[in-house]
Amino acid sequence: MELLQRVLDGSLMPHGHCLLWRWDLLFLHVGGDTLTTLAYFAIPAVLIRLVRKREDLTFDRVFLMFAAFIFLCGVTHLISLINVWHGYYFIEGLAKISTGVVSAITAIVAWRLLPIAINIPSRARLVAANEELRVAREDILEANIRLEEKVKERTAQLEALAVADPLTGTFRRSYALDTLREELKRAERYDIPLTVAMIDIDDFKVVNDTHGHLAGDDVLRGVGALLNTLSRDSDTIGRFGGEEFIIVMPECDETQGLLAVDRFITALREHQFTLASGETLHVTCSAGTAQADTDVTEAELLGLADKALYQAKKDGKNRVASCTDSKSSAQNNSEPEGS
Ligand code: GH3
Ligand code: MG
Ligand code: MG
Repeated sequence: MELLQRVLDGSLMPHGHCLLWRWDLLFLHVGGDTLTTLAYFAIPAVLIRLVRKREDLTFDRVFLMFAAFIFLCGVTHLISLINVWHGYYFIEGLAKISTGVVSAITAIVAWRLLPIAINIPSRARLVAANEELRVAREDILEANIRLEEKVKERTAQLEALAVADPLTGTFRRSYALDTLREELKRAERYDIPLTVAMIDIDDFKVVNDTHGHLAGDDVLRGVGALLNTLSRDSDTIGRFGGEEFIIVMPECDETQGLLAVDRFITALREHQFTLASGETLHVTCSAGTAQADTDVTEAELLGLADKALYQAKKDGKNRVASCTDSKSSAQNNSEPEGS
């Protein structure tokens, strides 16, 4: 109201040569300086808030310098505004020199930062680079998956190699014996039958002597393949040594074991081996079986199967004998004559 009063009574007009005592110039200068002062005080507030909120902001000091120089510009405009009516020219001079110094420093710093600022990638470039990285990452992930599969495959191959007999394709003796030990425990725990068979190729020395060791190897390979083909998935066939094999038959009693082994003996008898030389030959084998009793160790069980095998050899080869048969025949042999 007081301001309006002063406008109306003419006392607002400054004295001296100020603005030529013209109202239009007074309003232009006062209006312009007021607006600029308000804006120049508001902009630093925005910049300071930005710097505080954006912790990742690069060149935050430059932002603060801009805030300082804009604020000082606002101060000079404010003093100019006051000086329309008063004469604080020294203070105005000090404000102007401070603004000049801060502006000059800001200009120098901004100029020196220019090459770095120009090199800051644009948003589009960052998006493209991000996409490239995503594709590369997917490629690496895919390659990793392929590599993992290959490692798994190779590990499985190595594990198979570690337990496989290289000549016959059956398991190594150590693996077959480990399996027998485990199956014996399982048979006892769950009260299920377990039968083991010992197989020996008949007159194999003659095969070697007649056709050579390489031909003998071919025959061993063929016997291994035949055993693998005819056995159940749950059976474990191992090369016990030389031309001898064992078969661990879980969930199989002596009668079933005898039948299975007899099937193999018949198949081998009928199988014709063709050697690399083109010659053909037949081989036979003998076998002994033993069913596990409670508390029997694997060595004892193998001993019984071996005894039965010995009996089969003694009875004329090319046959299977069970340990029960060999026990009873041993008993018969020890009975006094005429009884
Ligand atoms: P039997 O009917 O009593 O079992 O007689 P056999 O000739 O089969 O038994 P013997 O123990 O007298 O001979 C076994 C032969 O098996 C002797 C050995 O040279 C041969 N042999 C053992 N391992 C291999 C092998 O890996 N390759 C070849 N070619 N021969 C082998
Ligand atoms: Mg032998
Ligand atoms: Mg033999």
